Amino acid sequence: MKLKNDKDLSISTKIAQALHFSDPETGSVVPSIDHSATYSRDENYQPRQAFWYRRDGNKTTQLAEEIISELENANASLLFSSGMSACTAVLEMLPAEAQIAVPRVMYHGVLGQIQNFASKNRIRVDYYEAGDLASMDSVIKNGVTQLVWVETPNNPNWEVTDISSASELAHKAGAKLIVDATATPPTMTKSLDLGADISFHSATKYLNGHSDIAAGALSFNQQSSMYENLFTIRKLHGTVLNSQDAFLLIRGLRTLFLRVEKNSQNAMLLAKHFNNHEFIEKVLYPGLETHPNHQIAKHQTNGQFGGMLSVIVKGSQTDAINVVRNCKVFYPATSLGGVESLIEHRKTVSGDDFPVHENLIRISAGIEDPVDLINDLEQALDTVFKRKGQH
Ligand code: PLP
Repeated sequence: MKLKNDKDLSISTKIAQALHFSDPETGSVVPSIDHSATYSRDENYQPRQAFWYRRDGNKTTQLAEEIISELENANASLLFSSGMSACTAVLEMLPAEAQIAVPRVMYHGVLGQIQNFASKNRIRVDYYEAGDLASMDSVIKNGVTQLVWVETPNNPNWEVTDISSASELAHKAGAKLIVDATATPPTMTKSLDLGADISFHSATKYLNGHSDIAAGALSFNQQSSMYENLFTIRKLHGTVLNSQDAFLLIRGLRTLFLRVEKNSQNAMLLAKHFNNHEFIEKVLYPGLETHPNHQIAKHQTNGQFGGMLSVIVKGSQTDAINVVRNCKVFYPATSLGGVESLIEHRKTVSGDDFPVHENLIRISAGIEDPVDLINDLEQALDTVFKRKGQH
């Protein structure tokens, strides 16, 4: 439903209008939800459109894919029933015993699935330090490594990897590059433009933005064999995003530009306020000038830095957990990228085996009044540390 002469329109206009969607039959400016599990063929017994059974896709999901392709500057995108099912499809696509390079610290769910594949000898894994190109370079094996996995900024430390340089390193060795930029959606980072072969997002997060669906998006800069393979895997796994959730995703995408700007502003205010705070050892946020990857982030995330930050509190792990427990405005919940602010003790969520600082609290800044968020965390810190001081 793209406008014919939309070249001059700003991307934010196109996304707010869901690519100027208008139903050809009714003129509705909101897409309908295609609930059908199957599609009748025409009088010549030919399928009427690309999808003729539920697992192929549907027109609501297809519109969501077109919007994401527009955002990503992609040739094609595929939506899955969750971020994890999209990642699993990528791992499934790799040939037996493929060598892949992944960060040592990244979102624990994806890392766990990679390790699961490795434990069955489906793939072989080399680990590099997130955000460290020299470390990445040292593990990429020329002509052997098939895929380099980047998560930038990475969970939960928010180290930033220079995507252009990573793409040079991967391609020089004959490997493909996949970038998980879930924490900095394509209003900030367009991974394909920077050289990635696949851009991945857990669309559960910023792309949807309202914590009411799970979805995963893979985008490609050409309709390559990778796209065809992943389309087939999605169809055989039955993991295409359903139409109801695609509808909610489209609704969320329309406000992406507005939301992400506010998420980023709030995160910056929180980061600046709690940096050098008496009860906080360190604030991890690429927007702070003291962050080691600040300059790359500035260039790579379009002058914004995203809504995700972590704070390492002083004291013990129990103190950190108690700070989370005493918040009243932040929700003590996992996930990220929504309109509501979330806070979590990361080690509790990612498990004892995962290499994360025991006092690290991960924050997803929502779009609330930042004063309420700052006051909430202040009172939680006061409650824990001042009470402790009295004993
Ligand atoms: N990648 C990152 C960076 C994530 O944060 C998550 C989920 O938290 C995923 C992938 C997995 O996505 P989903 O939860 O939609 O399956």
